[in-house]
Formats: sequence, structure tokens, C-alpha cells
Amino acid sequence: MKIQFLGASKVVTGSNILITTGSYKILLDCGMFQGSDELELLNSEPFEFNPAEIDYLFLSHAHIDHSGRIPKLVKEGFKGKIFCTKATKELVEIMLVDSGHIQESDVVWENRKRKRAGKPPLEPLYTVDDARNSLRYFESALYNQKLYVNESISIRFRDAGHILGSSIIELWITEPNKDTVKIVFSGDLGSKDKPLIRNAELIEEADYLIMESTYGNRLHESKEQRIEKLINLINETVSKGGSVIIPSFAVGRTQELIYELNKYYEYNQDIEAFLRIPIYIDSPMAIAATEVFKNNSYCFNDETKKLILNGDNPFAFENLHFVRSHEESMRLNEVHFPKVVISASGMCTAGRIRHHLKHNLWKSNNAVVFVGYQANGTLGRILKDGVKKVKILGEEIAVLAGIHSIEGFSGHADQKELLDWLGGFKKKPTRVFLVHGEEEATTTLSNLIEEKYNIKPIIPNMGYTFQIEDEVLRAYSGEILEPIQRKENIKMELEQVYDQFESLVVKTERIMDEKLLNKDYDNLKNKLLQLQKELLDINIFLGE
Ligand SMILES: [Zn+2]
Ligand SMILES: [Zn+2]
Repeated sequence: MKIQFLGASKVVTGSNILITTGSYKILLDCGMFQGSDELELLNSEPFEFNPAEIDYLFLSHAHIDHSGRIPKLVKEGFKGKIFCTKATKELVEIMLVDSGHIQESDVVWENRKRKRAGKPPLEPLYTVDDARNSLRYFESALYNQKLYVNESISIRFRDAGHILGSSIIELWITEPNKDTVKIVFSGDLGSKDKPLIRNAELIEEADYLIMESTYGNRLHESKEQRIEKLINLINETVSKGGSVIIPSFAVGRTQELIYELNKYYEYNQDIEAFLRIPIYIDSPMAIAATEVFKNNSYCFNDETKKLILNGDNPFAFENLHFVRSHEESMRLNEVHFPKVVISASGMCTAGRIRHHLKHNLWKSNNAVVFVGYQANGTLGRILKDGVKKVKILGEEIAVLAGIHSIEGFSGHADQKELLDWLGGFKKKPTRVFLVHGEEEATTTLSNLIEEKYNIKPIIPNMGYTFQIEDEVLRAYSGEILEPIQRKENIKMELEQVYDQFESLVVKTERIMDEKLLNKDYDNLKNKLLQLQKELLDINIFLGE
């Protein structure tokens, strides 16, 4: 068996690993390279393998740097199965189609230039249709469900706490007449105590660990007060008659902001003042992603689940408005009134946010608030660096609005959190491979791992191949749980079922007398029928 590192080696994008066994070829992630032109050129290079020969692709999460080359893989002959979590499957649908749009429009723009220069036109990396076509290969599972993929491969997705649906992949491979090998792929690990989703789960054991290292040389600033800071900024700006513009990533960060603002709405005493500030989510992708969040509440952390069981919808409050049409979006800037606009893209490189910046940057009573990473060269970074004038949509705009950034919102675990996560293994892996990090971050983390855990990690170059034969394995214990532990685990799951069922009965009785819309009534009835089916299935299974 061998493991080949074909992306996100000494860089943070293009995640792609190939595992070849005696009988199967397996990919972990198939991501897009993003960043410099040189890096992005790699996307159009042929794959290092024949896509038609790949049997399985296990996808850690929906981000484009992990999923973005899937349509290309399918276009070039992949006919296998793609496994990921249910939430990832639903998010990836939105993201790949959007990526198809971007690929198509990039080429249109480029081809205009080429035509003028007398050069032949370029083909897009893939189209919206290619992206849609790739979706039929997806199959999904819930967190912690162990899937027996075939006679020699099984997998399990554990929560990586990074974005909705993000997973750490546990992979067991048993080749004929050989010991079972357990490979763990961390995917991207989230920073702790984020809104909405849970913390990354600790993994018990692995023979081989492939681990991300994005922030291997960095510690996050304190997360405390980030929401207070944002609320204060909003109140101050609005009291001066200004508006607050927040560029935000459509998937993840926007839903975190909605969640936090909803919490403020639920628990704040001086609600009258807050209600007078309209808050607009102006991004079709963010709106679609919010729907996926609503459909996957089982992924949420305890705080959020409690809120939901108590009857609150964390993505709705009185003064929150979702802006769907283009016309509605334009209208926001026709009449000036104090408001908050949360729009994408997060680094201001495209999308409706550019219109809002054009209309609001030149007024000194407005504020622009950055809540996410701004990469070098992006409009977001240029503004954050404090320029006095920018060119947006072909027009020169003076920057007179206040420019603020609130740190502490981060998608990735920092150095300490990465080390702690590795420390959580009860049986340490035989080998650790560090990927998904710039060289400095990865090397720093590697040194600390060696110091702390006495394991010398391997930092693979792009194309590096590791042969698994003849290694002494120490992790795999056959995974047979003690009867006591089994009983405890099943009891815990049953208790959750009881709790949720109880809350369901109470709530259903409460709404019985209300006039439900036909659609809502049908929806509720469908879900109850589904639940009955699942319960009956379990009973039959237990009867056997
Ligand atoms: Zn990610
Ligand atoms: Zn990533």
C-alpha cells in the first residue's frame, strides 16, 4: 500500500492525497489550488493518476480548496463513489455550481483579451453543467456512522469543528493476509468554541495520521468580546446616521454572525433600539447556505441545540432580512438610511459587496467591518491596509468611511489547539504527515510535535510517495469495545432520542391549535412519517 501527496503540500490549498492498495485506488479530497497565478496554473495540469481508475473519493469538507477539482475529476472519467457527511454534500452542491460559474466567467474575460491579441480561446476548467453532473456520484453519512464501503475498506466521519459538515476521516484498510491499517486524515481542524458547530472530536488511535498545519506558527487573539465590539460599532455608526457594511464569507462566517446577532436579539434588554436597525443578508449563496444550516441542526453544538429545543430559530429575528433579488439589492443603496449589510465575497474580490462598498465608502459616517482573513492583493486587504482611494467597478472612490477589523473569528485551529488535538490520541500514530500549511508554519509545528510527543513528522513535498509495507504498526487494536463501554455508548444515544422526542411532543401539542399553512403541515407530517420509518427499521434490526 502507498500514500501519495498530490496537493496542499507546503501550501494551504489543492488538498489531494492518493492511497493505492493492492486492489483499490482511493482519493482523500480533490481540491483546487488557490492563491498566486503560478499555483492556480496547477489546476489545469493533468492529474497524476487516471481519474477513471479511482474507486472512491472521501471528502473532508465543502471548501473549494478541498472539493474544487471534483467536476474536473468527473469530466475526465471518474466513475467511482464520493463519500462525505450529509451537510458537506448539501453545501458542496452550492459551492461547486458557484465554482462552475466562476470558471466560466473567468474564461469569458480572459478570452476577450486573447481574441484582441489574436490567440485561440481557452476552455474553462469546468462548467456549471460539469459541476452539476459531478453531484450524482455523491453518497453521504452522518457523523460517527461507520460505513463498510467494501470487503476491505471502512470509513467513519468525525466532527472536525471547522465548518458545517467538516470531518476528520478515519479509514480502515484490510488487505488479504495483512494486518488492518488505520489512516486518519484531519481535514481542516476548527478553532475551539465557535458559534453554532461543535469542537473538533478527539480521535482514539491511528497508525498513520495526515494532519493540517495552517496555523502551526500562530496563536489566535482572544475570542472574547468580539461580538460586543461588533454591536458597539453598529450602535455608534447608526447613531451617527451611518451604515455598517460587513464583507463576509457566504458559507460559515455569515451564519455565525446571524447566530450571534440572534442571541443578542434574544437576550438584550434594550431591544427597541436594536429593532430599529435593519440587518440585511445580501448574498444569494449565503442565503442558500443558511438553508443548509437549518437542515442540519444535528451538527450544532449543545448551546445551539438547547436554543432550538427551547423553540428559537437561531437564523431568524425580527429585524433580519434576506435580500434575494438583484433589484432588491440595488434598492438598498438608492435611499440612504442607517442599516447593516452583510454581503459576500468575504475578501471583496467579487459579488454584491462591491456595490455596497462603492455606495458607502465615500461617506464618513459609514463603517466597514472586516471579520475574516484578507489575503494579499485582494480589495479587502487594500482597504484594511488603509488606502485613501480605490477603484471599484470602474470608478474611483474616496475612502472616508471608518475601516475596522474585528479579530477572533477564525476557521482554523491555532498552534496550541493543533498540538492539543494531537495530544488527544490515546495511542499515538506511528507516523505523522503534515500538510495544508505554508512551509514556515509546518516546520514550526513539526519541531513542536517532535519536542512534545517524540514523533518526528514527515513534511511531504508535492508528489512524495510513502510506502506502507513492512512498517511496525502499533495503533490498531481491532476496535472491539468492552461490553460496559458499548452499553454506555448506546445508553447515551438512547437518552438523546428520549430528550428530543419529549421536546418534539411538547412543541407539536403547542402548535396543534394554530392555523398551519398546508405546506408546513405536509412538511411536519412527512418528517413524522420518516421518523416512524426509522424507528420501525431499528426495531426490525433489533428483532433479528
Ligand atoms: Zn477548510
Ligand atoms: Zn483548507
